[in-house]
Amino acid sequence: MTTPTPIFDGHNDLLLHLHAQGDHTGASFLNGRDGHLDLAKCRAGGFAGGFFAIYVPPEDRSGAARTAPVATDRARAVTMEMASILLRLTRANPNAIRLCTTAAQIDRAREDGAIAAVMHIEGAEGIGPDLLELEVLHAAGLRSLGPVWSRPNIFGHGVPFSFPASPDIGPGLTDAGLRLVAECERLGILIDLSHLNEAGFRDVARLSSRPLVATHSCVHALSQQSRNLTDRQLSAIAESGGVVGLNFGCQFLREDGQRRDDTDLGLMVRHLAYLVDRLGEAGVALGSDFDGALMPQGIGTAAGLPALVAAMQDAGFGTALIERICWQNWLDLLRRTIG
Ligand code: ZN
Repeated sequence: MTTPTPIFDGHNDLLLHLHAQGDHTGASFLNGRDGHLDLAKCRAGGFAGGFFAIYVPPEDRSGAARTAPVATDRARAVTMEMASILLRLTRANPNAIRLCTTAAQIDRAREDGAIAAVMHIEGAEGIGPDLLELEVLHAAGLRSLGPVWSRPNIFGHGVPFSFPASPDIGPGLTDAGLRLVAECERLGILIDLSHLNEAGFRDVARLSSRPLVATHSCVHALSQQSRNLTDRQLSAIAESGGVVGLNFGCQFLREDGQRRDDTDLGLMVRHLAYLVDRLGEAGVALGSDFDGALMPQGIGTAAGLPALVAAMQDAGFGTALIERICWQNWLDLLRRTIG
């Protein structure tokens, strides 16, 4: 068997599931679980590292309630609990998975054959307006944060899920959101634009001196999801020397916006080629949304990542570009931002 191409991935929701199942040590990740990510699937597919998201789920997942604001006290508790699960899992099993806070630590984990996990927050509801929790979370290893998920909070307005629709829906960051961005810059926490609406995106672009990053987003010109990035947004990311991680979620890839897993991997390559065209070869990476979105059948789980690499090869992407998309671009970006 050939060794799969190592992948560093922009987004997964493993912690959400471990938390929901009461698996507070991550035993099911180590021993095998249904779902997109576990140790055996990661090893089989070359998944060698990524951003592991802390995300506060809605209390009611049905209809409009899914994107309703969540209560601060519950959000703070869930945020701390998910951070603790990641800390427990990585501290107890450093040869399998390691919490990393620098690019050098990620390189070292890869050399040692351990998965590199970067702690990420998707929606900062667990942080209050005085931002005190941020200091603790940074000390715990947090290095990436999206101020909002696709719902409003005290920091801003997430882009609602809508198709076909522009991401230019609703107002920009609040005063607390502007302070949050400034504080993340001071601490060396990357700001993720993936669930922001366009006004919020513009606020971060205006405020931030760092490369702009969307950890798990697709191309609006190819699939008119409100969650996808318009050419204008891609230009801003390109100007900043930033990176976009391609979301594998079928509804974000497809021209018809449908959540159907008979989605061709060639379509993923079309999104990647479009991103390379707009961002250059240094600006494109992967952001699977494993355990958070419906995967194309051709990939299925982390074990199926080599099929995406093969699709890139079939489309004529060279080895150097594939290595950039799969690993190097995220690492270079992290080296330039968190250190
Ligand atoms: Zn997301």
